[in-house]
This record gives sequence, C-alpha cells and structure tokens, in this order.
Amino acid sequence: MTAVYPGSFDPVTLGHLDIIKRASRLYERLIVAVLNNSSKDQVFTAEERTGMITELCVGLSNVEVASFSGLLADFVRANKASVVIRGLRAVTDFEYEFQMALTNRSLHDEIETVFLPASLQYLYLSSSVAKEVFMLGGNVDSMLPPEVEKRMRLKTKQNQYNIKR
Ligand code: ADP
Repeated sequence: MTAVYPGSFDPVTLGHLDIIKRASRLYERLIVAVLNNSSKDQVFTAEERTGMITELCVGLSNVEVASFSGLLADFVRANKASVVIRGLRAVTDFEYEFQMALTNRSLHDEIETVFLPASLQYLYLSSSVAKEVFMLGGNVDSMLPPEVEKRMRLKTKQNQYNIKR
C-alpha cells in the first residue's frame, strides 16, 4: 500500500522527520509530497525543500520525495496511493485537519486520511516556530536537523527572506 505525506515543509523539522520514519514503517511505499505553493512568506523554494528531505531520507529505502501543486486528491490518484498521512499535534490542528480529510474524500472517495499523533517532544513544534526562534537567535537544535539549520544560516547571510511578525 502506498501512502502520501503532504505538507509545506518550509523547512522540514524533526517533528516531520519523526512522522516520516513512523509512517514508513506502516506502509510499503511512502511519498513525501512537498506543496509547491507560491506564498511570498516561504523561506525555501519547493526544489530546495524537496532536496533537503531527500537528503535526510537516504536511509529510508521505501520513502520517495516529490513536489506537487494543485489538488492533493489528484496527486494521490496519479500515484495510485490510497492513504494520506497527517500529523496531529494539539487539539487546534483537529478542526482544520478534519475538514481537509473530508474534503479530500469527497474529491476521491478511496482516500483515507490516517492521523499519527505527534511525539511528545515535538508536540508544539512547527516550521513557523522553528523559523521564529532561529531568526531571534535562539537554539534550534531540538527543532531542526543540523543540515537544515545550516541552510537557514546560508539564507540569512544571503538576506533572502524576512520573517513576517
Ligand atoms: P501544512 O500542510 O499545514 O503546510 P506542514 O508542512 O507544517 O503543514 O506539516 C505537514 C504535516 O506535518 C501536517 O500534517 C502537520 O500537522 C504535521 N506536523 C507538523 N509538525 C509536526 C510535529 N511537530 N509533529 C507531528 N506532526 C507534525
């Protein structure tokens, strides 16, 4: 069975990687699907985000990384997948996630969304929290893989982005 784990991953955090590892144990094939959105607030391009996740997943032989735009339901169908993986953190994720799951099922009735609970140490971790702490000079060792932190540092040097507050 093929599962798709979609998200913005801007950038990928230790919380995302934890979900990728856990989901890869549950399914024969896992496709991490990086949303190619054109939001002005994004730090990394879809290509950069896809590249970083690919590097971090080299040890996971059943994990593939791809980027997509448009409807997730179409991407799932095109890849002959039947499961969408989402991570659930605090209760605040629930309303939105439930709405998305039902919407995706209404577009493609064979899609099941499977929620994996966040691990305790990553319960309050999001890409935006990690970016904010990084920009304010805080320690992000418990939030981001060292490779990602390095890329963030390079971006700051090139002064390519501003974090909106
Ligand atoms: P979005 O699709 O909303 O842009 P993200 O790229 O931030 O989402 O995250 C993709 C998926 O990973 C979502 O299902 C989100 O709930 C989940 N996720 C994000 N951070 C964590 C975390 N720390 N632990 C578990 N799941 C997470």
